[in-house]
Amino acid sequence: MYPVVVVHGGAGHVPKERAELATAGVCAAVRAGYAVLQGGGSSMDAVVEAVTQMENNPSFNAGCGSVLNIKGEVEMDAIVMDGKTLGSGSVSCVRDIANPVQLARLVMDKTSHVCLTAEGANQFARSMGVPEVPMESLITEYARMRWRKNLAPDANPVECQMGKMGTVGAVAVDSEGNVACATSTGGMLNKMEGRVGDTPLIGSGGYADNQTGAVSTTGHGEAIMKVTLARLILFHMGQGQTAEAASDLGLAYMKSRVGGQGGVVTVDPQGHWAARFSSQQMCWAAAQRDILHHGLNSGEHLTQSIVPP
Ligand code: ASP
Repeated sequence: MYPVVVVHGGAGHVPKERAELATAGVCAAVRAGYAVLQGGGSSMDAVVEAVTQMENNPSFNAGCGSVLNIKGEVEMDAIVMDGKTLGSGSVSCVRDIANPVQLARLVMDKTSHVCLTAEGANQFARSMGVPEVPMESLITEYARMRWRKNLAPDANPVECQMGKMGTVGAVAVDSEGNVACATSTGGMLNKMEGRVGDTPLIGSGGYADNQTGAVSTTGHGEAIMKVTLARLILFHMGQGQTAEAASDLGLAYMKSRVGGQGGVVTVDPQGHWAARFSSQQMCWAAAQRDILHHGLNSGEHLTQSIVPP
């Protein structure tokens, strides 16, 4: 078994001028997660590190770079799950913190609960000494421009629903065969205030179980919730399907049953992995055996060595 980290930077459509940045971002994140595994860290440490990197990268819809809600504000969702214990922590509608994924991990590690929301999540952050940051520091020019564009009376509702997404997520298997997942997002563009997406919901935005594997999802949250996509894929793996086949089955079901598009990264405890999507594109990267794999378009699979020549 070879330890592995797989990350995604969101399902949807990446505008040409942003593709390079998004690719660089997922590759940097997967390298960071892989370095954690190589240093003897757990799969949980690796996915939190990889997702933290992408939250700090303004190219993605998570942390700094999050899309804005209808009021022009940032409300973020995140989840982590540990496949060894089935321990999970998540936050929804949290504001003014740089790294919701780290707060989700604190919910798992320091409380007896699984999910904290809105002001309660922020109060918990304060009690843990997590610094608050001005909301403005999480808002990029690009996010504000898209928000304004989508407020216009002639805005295309498809762009609102399935626009240029950039939710981030990671799955990993460590040398002990423990799996973990993490997902973080600013949600859907111009969402209603208080809208909770799939990301912080256990079984939808992610799931991890050492008996089957781990999944992190992205795509149309309302569709993902209706089919509990992460859990559905792991159900298929429990029935003997490979990570790739199970991911495709879950995504195909979501498309046919509720008309939803999305993408996933998936691992099994033996280190087999998949990055699959039904959306136009999904930026993804994986690291295993010192090889970095990445892609953006359907069927695209590029590789390079992680060790510098
Ligand atoms: N699933 C996220 C949400 O609905 C959006 C995304 O993945 O792009 O909040």
